[in-house]
Amino acid sequence: MTTSELPARDATTVAGPSMLSGWRRPPAWAGFIASVVVLAGVYYLVPLAGPVGASLQTITYGVVVCGSVAAFLLGVRRHRPPARTPWLVIAAGQAFTAAGEITYDVIHLLLHSDASVTAADPLLLAAFPVQAVGLMLMVRRRTPGWDAPSIIDATIITVSAALLSWIYLISPSALATDLTPLDRAAAVAYPLGDLLLLAVAARLVLGAGVRTTAFWLLSAGLAASLLTDTVYGVQTLLGTYFDGSWTDAGWMLCYALMGASGLHASMTRVAEPSPAAGPDATAGRLLVLAVAAVLAPTAELVQYLRHAPTFLPLVTTGCIALFLLVIARMAVLIQAQRHMAITDALTGLRTRRFLQQALDTETARARRQNASLGLLLLDVDHFKHVNDTHGHHGGDRVLCEVAHRLKAVVRPGDIVARYGGEEFAVLLPQVNDADLADVAERIRRCMANTPMAVDAQTLINVTVSVGGALLPDHVDTPDDLTLATDRALYAAKEAGRNRTVTAAPIASRA
Ligand code: GH3
Ligand code: MG
Ligand code: MG
Repeated sequence: MTTSELPARDATTVAGPSMLSGWRRPPAWAGFIASVVVLAGVYYLVPLAGPVGASLQTITYGVVVCGSVAAFLLGVRRHRPPARTPWLVIAAGQAFTAAGEITYDVIHLLLHSDASVTAADPLLLAAFPVQAVGLMLMVRRRTPGWDAPSIIDATIITVSAALLSWIYLISPSALATDLTPLDRAAAVAYPLGDLLLLAVAARLVLGAGVRTTAFWLLSAGLAASLLTDTVYGVQTLLGTYFDGSWTDAGWMLCYALMGASGLHASMTRVAEPSPAAGPDATAGRLLVLAVAAVLAPTAELVQYLRHAPTFLPLVTTGCIALFLLVIARMAVLIQAQRHMAITDALTGLRTRRFLQQALDTETARARRQNASLGLLLLDVDHFKHVNDTHGHHGGDRVLCEVAHRLKAVVRPGDIVARYGGEEFAVLLPQVNDADLADVAERIRRCMANTPMAVDAQTLINVTVSVGGALLPDHVDTPDDLTLATDRALYAAKEAGRNRTVTAAPIASRA
């Protein structure tokens, strides 16, 4: 036997076991969805088995509903998310739904009652506020701030949905003369519950925060529930819904997705606080908002053309609210754009553009008040070396620390800006020659005296060179002020770095 044959024979002998060991059990969440799909198949097939089929169908549905709550709770137990409360409250909401579904089946299918409102309804209705509270707790943890854009977006969607819901779902029952007050109240309460859930779910999906698989499973589960409830509402009005209809598949899909979201390992991160601000208006989001804003007036037009009830005061008020919300959204967007234009993304200081504008307005003010205006420019010494030695990330940390110290060392009214890469500027209204030199020296010392962190373990010594000039003592125009400050900074660099230089008064320059 040649040595080259050995690996070949080894490969044949291990092929069997290795193929078996290569088969991995599907993750629990996928297994759960697959199980619900199988049970849904059973649900639609068992009625073919005759009278006993109806009971089997009820049992199958009960297994799916209870299985979803169990899967959800099992996931919380297994993955131990840092924030357990939102998940447990959502599970409590699901448990109300499960209890309501089972009560419904017992009353209608076992006790053969044909009452339209039963003990199942308070349980099913209680699920809406409980789930909404659970989702709201999740939203609050994900975006600790207000996140106004997402709130406005979610409100636009909810107002639009509320108007459509009133026209097509709520008003036919609410205004029906052939229903008892209790039946009417129940018929109105379900769409209202869905609207409450939609408002919170829209806020969850549109707000900032990590979007893990568990997040998408949860969101898809909520969407399936809201859509199926709507289809069910329409079917009920048309009298086309029956137990065991295809609509039930929508609810089973919801249970499958909700249970899977609890079982997915990424559920631990869903309630994680997000450092990022609310997302900007992306093209997709604008499309959703445009559709939402246009749907209600379109539905109203269709009602008018069909000679159907138009509810003019209500729908008009809703449309006015939608217009105002869109305007509010634009105002927030403009504010955000303006903030971005004048704020340096890395350090949070003002931008050079802002400084340039401030230079003109402060010069005019100084002239009016016969006061002086100081400008300091500072440049980090040998910064390229920091980047080369500690990486760009280390360099960025130094820039943030310089910005932080700079803000702490100047007066509140002074304007601190990032002038360029590792150059910073401070505009100081109402300072004299001695003050300017004093502030420049304070800045130099506060950088040089305490080392700065470039990573969790490493501290380095960072120095800056500072140049300064004063208007009208040293120069006459804002442009000359910048030029003179730049020259002073260059002189400080030339003189050996880690020092401050201020321009000379006009009289002594001649
Ligand atoms: P000097 O003492 O003469 O000022 O030396 P220096 O190394 O600081 O010189 P120079 O001004 O040429 O180098 C500036 C460096 O700053 C070059 C550039 O790669 C780096 N830089 C500019 N912007 C950023 C930034 O946002 N982050 C980081 N990490 N580096 C930046
Ligand atoms: Mg430089
Ligand atoms: Mg430099």
